[in-house]
Amino acid sequence: MDRSTIAIHAGRGPRTSGSPLNAPLVLASSFHGDTYAREEGSPSWEAFEEAIGALEGGSAVAFSSGTAGAAAILETLPAGARVVGPVAGYAWTRSLLAERAAVGRIVLETVDTTDTEATLRACAGADLLWLETPSNPLLEVCELDRLCAASVPVAVDSTFATPLLQRPLELGATFAMHSATKFIGGHSDLLLGVISTRDPAALRHARAQVGATPGALEAFLALRGLRTLPVRLELAQRSASTLASRLLEHPAVSAVHYPGLPGDRFHERAARFMDGFGAMLSFELQGDPDAVCGAVEVFTHAKSLGGVESLIDRRGPSLIRLSVGCEHVEDLWSDLDRALQISG
Ligand SMILES: *Cc1c(COP(=O)(O)O)cnc(C)c1O
Repeated sequence: MDRSTIAIHAGRGPRTSGSPLNAPLVLASSFHGDTYAREEGSPSWEAFEEAIGALEGGSAVAFSSGTAGAAAILETLPAGARVVGPVAGYAWTRSLLAERAAVGRIVLETVDTTDTEATLRACAGADLLWLETPSNPLLEVCELDRLCAASVPVAVDSTFATPLLQRPLELGATFAMHSATKFIGGHSDLLLGVISTRDPAALRHARAQVGATPGALEAFLALRGLRTLPVRLELAQRSASTLASRLLEHPAVSAVHYPGLPGDRFHERAARFMDGFGAMLSFELQGDPDAVCGAVEVFTHAKSLGGVESLIDRRGPSLIRLSVGCEHVEDLWSDLDRALQISG
């Protein structure tokens, strides 16, 4: 089956007369017999995990947030483990790695993970390679096929790609991680993380041990969000591609970061192992980024990403990041074009 069909069908109950089409929301911490939700899991998370695991080709473990999932991966490593991490990417992941290194829990080496040869060299003798691709906020793309073939466990933050556009486990990664807060949930109404792996026992233990359990409602909503991810993403990435091409021609814009652009430095790489280029992009502006963020009326000036509503946020002195949602692309473009003119 195609991934779009799996996203709709996986994680449902049995097709027996009278049983519900959707896994029901189960609000229980404890179950008759010997089951406690923090330790063994709960039916609402399990339905969500089953669906994500089916898409990623592994067993999924859900967490209270993407960051809780990242911390749980580190929790599975031995004391003093050598971790190779990226110099760029999601700030809270980089600070998580740096803070664990500062107290001696891990030994961290950071490297430009878009430089495949340098990354492979740094991996010699390492216990984990952490990748984020495409990366936040510059949409840098790692050579995932080559890096996942390295003889070191690889964790991939695949949030920007979603489980539909990139399959790290098939390429050889040990962990495929998502902030389900973003595209999977899709409606900016929940916090959740999910990690797929072939052997989830250590990750499940880490979740139980640090108590990083998902909420039942959040898991229920995230599964509901996953059902429409294929249609949301198809529309949003088509619009992102249109906006990226038009921004490239705009006099106020000096550079556009979107791997779907034929001239983007990561285009060839992304086309090799991704099934689409996603709905995130960023661009460098000649004018005042705050003025643009303050002038939009269709885009919303806010943090986070991946919802049906398009978001705009300043991510550097001249860098603006767009999370393209599902509004009509011409409404998005005229809003952006007008805001860019206001900013001078
Ligand atoms: C948001 C985000 C995270 C963190 O996820 P939370 O659910 O907010 O903890 C990690 N990586 C990337 C790429 C993100 O965008």
